[in-house]
Amino acid sequence: MIYVKKSEPAPLCLPIEKAKKNGDYKCGDVLLRTRDDFRNKCYICESKAPTTINVEHFKSHQGNKDLMYDWYNLFYACGHCNNIKLHLYDHILNCTDLQDLVDEWIQYDIKPFPGEKVRLTVLHDDERVRNTVELLEKVYNGHTPLKTIEAGNIRQNLLEEIRDFQGFLFKYYRERLEQTYKENLKREIKYQLSPYSPFTAFKKWIIRENPVLQADFGELV
Ligand SMILES: [Zn+2]
Repeated sequence: MIYVKKSEPAPLCLPIEKAKKNGDYKCGDVLLRTRDDFRNKCYICESKAPTTINVEHFKSHQGNKDLMYDWYNLFYACGHCNNIKLHLYDHILNCTDLQDLVDEWIQYDIKPFPGEKVRLTVLHDDERVRNTVELLEKVYNGHTPLKTIEAGNIRQNLLEEIRDFQGFLFKYYRERLEQTYKENLKREIKYQLSPYSPFTAFKKWIIRENPVLQADFGELV
């Protein structure tokens, strides 16, 4: 999970739909703007371009129209994560709120080898942090037979992504590298640490945990 800035102002269709008996909160450009704000990534697992998309209510609406049509309550999630969160995790960290240090209060880690599980560590003792870790634990490692298969698929993508990131870093630190090539690698590493890239929280922690990487790329995390 990383910080996401919601675009403003709120889509004009939302209050119009809210006034209707059976309105649609996915009206007008809500879907496309949500996709773009969240860089086409699930805000919970950070999978890029998920094949099942839900405009998710960060705080479940349970019939409450204020929550149902509140632009700042509409998030972009994949089916896997949405289906685990449901109304069960209304009190988690809010990745659109700069006050919630979503990738600093939780350490995200996976050993880059097949079969490894995700390790999440609470670094800021707070109920919402603990709830977020509980949710992420189910998302990345699974808690039912079906979710365990889905989580395994996510971890496969995560491991491949980390392996590629590792590849760029190893090449960058090779001795006597041609300057232009090194610059290109630096651009790639910069992209890997940007909000556009999948699983950014894990990559940021790779940088934070390593003094050499921290010295060269610390300002990007
Ligand atoms: Zn997800």
